Amino acid sequence: MATKLRIKKNDLVKVLTGRDRGKQGKVTQVFPKSGLVVVEGINLRFKHLRNTPGQGRAGSRVQYAAPLGASKLMVMCPSCGKTTRVQMIKSAEGKSLRSCHRCQQTLTTV
Ligand SMILES: [Zn+2]
Repeated sequence: MATKLRIKKNDLVKVLTGRDRGKQGKVTQVFPKSGLVVVEGINLRFKHLRNTPGQGRAGSRVQYAAPLGASKLMVMCPSCGKTTRVQMIKSAEGKSLRSCHRCQQTLTTV
């Protein structure tokens, strides 16, 4: 069983390594099974579209954000503004909530 990702959609994350190191972005897609995450504006690549004769469409390059490994990312805490490890805490109703290990604030999933 793969370890559960602590990163959720709409989280603000910081890139720790690779070409986009130091950049921040919003998570747009999460693939828990493969441990991959798509972040807005991070890991941009070009998809090369071939020219199709007869259809009047020229070949072009389309930029898209490619998925990258969740281990290269760290969640940013909206309340203290720092990168944080995600802790799981129990709420009064017995629900598991994600919280910041620095300020103990609950990380809201928008
Ligand atoms: Zn915090």
